[in-house]
Amino acid sequence: MDFILPKQAPYRGRFAPSPSGSLHFGSLIAALGSYLQARSQQGSWQVRIDDIDPPREVSGATQDILQTLIAYGLYWDGDVIYQSKNSDNYEKILNRLATQQLSYACECTRKIIKMQGGLYLGTCRNKQLPVSGHAIRVNLQKLNFPVSQFNDRLQGLVTLDLAESNEDFIIKRKDGLYAYNLAVVIDDIEQGITEVVRGVDLLTTTGKQLALYHLFNNKAPSYLHLPVAVTAPGKKLSKQNHALAINKKKPIPTLLAALAFLGHPVPKALHCKDCQNILAWAIQNWSIERIPQYQEIQIEN
Ligand code: GLU
Repeated sequence: MDFILPKQAPYRGRFAPSPSGSLHFGSLIAALGSYLQARSQQGSWQVRIDDIDPPREVSGATQDILQTLIAYGLYWDGDVIYQSKNSDNYEKILNRLATQQLSYACECTRKIIKMQGGLYLGTCRNKQLPVSGHAIRVNLQKLNFPVSQFNDRLQGLVTLDLAESNEDFIIKRKDGLYAYNLAVVIDDIEQGITEVVRGVDLLTTTGKQLALYHLFNNKAPSYLHLPVAVTAPGKKLSKQNHALAINKKKPIPTLLAALAFLGHPVPKALHCKDCQNILAWAIQNWSIERIPQYQEIQIEN
């Protein structure tokens, strides 16, 4: 008798930077970790530009990010995807949620929520406010499925704050912009992403994203949250902290440092080779067990 093994979806990973500045060492870690995790499993690796927040966008950042990935030998599959081109889809899904009463409009200001203790308490859930001019929140109570625990492939079992997980979070902002959690889930589903590899700074957003997968009746991807680079405890390298852009002309020292950061120091004999040779070694030797489980690793910027 022949046994037919269940067909597993081919691995699909992605790197999804926001174009709010050039790639710095911290974002290179997320790019490299997601790339190696995909390529070591013969999977595909896509690049998506999360450009749904025009006020935070820096002109020229998208081109600069893509050129930097190329300079580091991190070639992606297919066309680059832009979230800004997917608004019709976000709107369609928002309308569907509203019809199913899985979302509602909310008039609470940040100040009011702060006065109530910092967490949104569902104040507008039954107010039937008009959508226009208001923020839209997901109706988690209707769903009765807050996610306060999940398994992370590197961080293990992650337990999130229960009250925070129960909070009806915003899916469309009052200013009309789509919220990160909504857009990221819709696009990851559409792109068929099977695993999300990103910095541990996004760990707590995962509960909200898992709740949305449930709401959309879709299988969630697996998650692997990498350590983030900090310059001092709690001070993550970020565009907002003016982290230095990484060098596009001399990529090898930074690539070697990023691989060492991820627990994969490259043998000396390869140090003078080009990025492609170094990445080929990294793909072959990549193992989750070697990635440090710390959430923060201090580096000099
Ligand atoms: N666009 C997000 C950022 O740059 C990352 C999205 C994700 O990996 O989920 O912080």
